[in-house]
Amino acid sequence: MSRRFDVVVIGAGPAGYVAAIRAAQHGLSVACIDEWQNKDGKNAFGGTCLNAGCIPSKALLESSELFHRAQHEFKKHGITIGDLGMDVTAMQKRRASIVRQLTGGIAGLLKANNIEGLVGHGRLLAGKKIEFTPVKGDAEVVDADHVILASGSIPIELSVARYDGDKIVDSWDALEFTAVPKRMGVVGAGVVGLELGSIWARLGAQVTVIEAMDDFLIMADRDVARTAAKEFKKQGLDIRLGATLTSAETSKKGVSVNYEDKKGTHSLEVDQLVVAVGRRPFTDSLLAEDSGIQPDDRGFIVVDDECRTRVKGVFAIGDCVRGPMLAHKGSEEGVMAADLIAGEIAEFNYDVVPSVIYTAPEIAWVGKTEEEVKKSGRPYKTGSFPFAASGRAKAMEQTSGMVKIIAGADDDEILGVHIIGPMAGELIAEAVLAMEFSASTEDLQRTIHAHPSLAEAIHEAALAVDKRALNYIN
Ligand SMILES: Cc1cc2nc3c(=O)[nH]c(=O)nc-3n(C[C@H](O)[C@H](O)[C@H](O)COP(=O)(O)OP(=O)(O)OC[C@H]3O[C@@H](n4cnc5c(N)ncnc54)[C@H](O)[C@@H]3O)c2cc1C
Repeated sequence: MSRRFDVVVIGAGPAGYVAAIRAAQHGLSVACIDEWQNKDGKNAFGGTCLNAGCIPSKALLESSELFHRAQHEFKKHGITIGDLGMDVTAMQKRRASIVRQLTGGIAGLLKANNIEGLVGHGRLLAGKKIEFTPVKGDAEVVDADHVILASGSIPIELSVARYDGDKIVDSWDALEFTAVPKRMGVVGAGVVGLELGSIWARLGAQVTVIEAMDDFLIMADRDVARTAAKEFKKQGLDIRLGATLTSAETSKKGVSVNYEDKKGTHSLEVDQLVVAVGRRPFTDSLLAEDSGIQPDDRGFIVVDDECRTRVKGVFAIGDCVRGPMLAHKGSEEGVMAADLIAGEIAEFNYDVVPSVIYTAPEIAWVGKTEEEVKKSGRPYKTGSFPFAASGRAKAMEQTSGMVKIIAGADDDEILGVHIIGPMAGELIAEAVLAMEFSASTEDLQRTIHAHPSLAEAIHEAALAVDKRALNYIN
């Protein structure tokens, strides 16, 4: 007789493992299937985020940022050090150890919640049956009352620059370089391209970023994008906009890159080329023909607002469905799906998913950009406050950037908060909470913020919306 679970989750990335834990917390019997294999051949839970995305990138961003600050800022603090050294092997060892601890932690969490962690491939068959093919051993079919598909995404490959794992690489390989490339090319000035470019530029690489769009950071508020472009230029990141990659030829020496822009054809010689042009949903061998589910023409599994697919009892969450490809978006969809399966009322507020780019300065936002609000026709007002006027930012020697708030002109509802500056990724949490509670800027104005803190910049930006900033001329 086949094994039976109340819920079977396919994929143990931040969407899948969180859904599994939440379902188990409801007292349901749960299995979570995952096939992720790291470069050392070992299987690990945690998906892209823990193994090849959010966590390893942040580990290296932190190391490279500390090195950069030691080189460029310590003197201003009155700190002198002898010969400053940098050891990529040690940095990579630390990165790998953090990943190991956290992915091991997921295995521990699954166990502690009595979730059956199944290592191998899962495929949805008809009638909510799942074929599980373990890494070692024979395939079996397990029965489920409910299935949650959380198979994630993989990097998009360009036909003109095929990955070879050495000279032309994807974001995962670029997080595992064992030496700093002298000249590094990045295709794509999106979140991942900018984070990877920042890491290796701070460690000494000469980084050139090619971006097909004419506008920089098209998804961000224009004021933020303009500030970011200036800051990255100061840091030596050479970002070429409106530039489309046409070919990339590898040789023993490196990669000869050709691209086109309005002025014509250009070439560029680099040692390594990182292609970071986005990710596509991963559903290879996930759905049997008679499973009842077909991805759409872009490869996404089609779901409604509650992440239900067209097959009753089968949900899909995370990067393999529409919406921003972000770990926290997938996790919250996992919580919603598990709650709905348990018979509870649950919903997801897609209007308040925060976005963060972990460059220096960090960039974070939630809600609408000024351009989006303008386009909607809704009357609005804005207020901003520069970190140059923040005592805490000055003490930290991190005064670049600002907080900008957009609110409805009629009812003062906060419509968008945009931050570029120190710890923007942490500061945005206040804005997310405020917007989740439909707060007005007056609510923020009347909320006490500790002094001196970076969060005071949010308070002042809220006051500035009504021309009442106290520490800046309105
Ligand atoms: C370099 C980089 C940096 C990033 N940084 C951030 C960040 O700072 N913040 C953020 O929010 N997001 C970040 N992301 C995006 C984030 O990693 C993804 O949004 C997130 O991992 C998606 O979670 P998921 O659970 O949907 O999918 P994944 O994390 O991709 O997990 C899917 C899992 O399912 C497994 N799987 C797939 N199909 C099957 C199958 N048929 N059988 C068994 N197992 C299967 C896969 O092996 C994988 O383990 C980053 C991404 C990259 C590449």
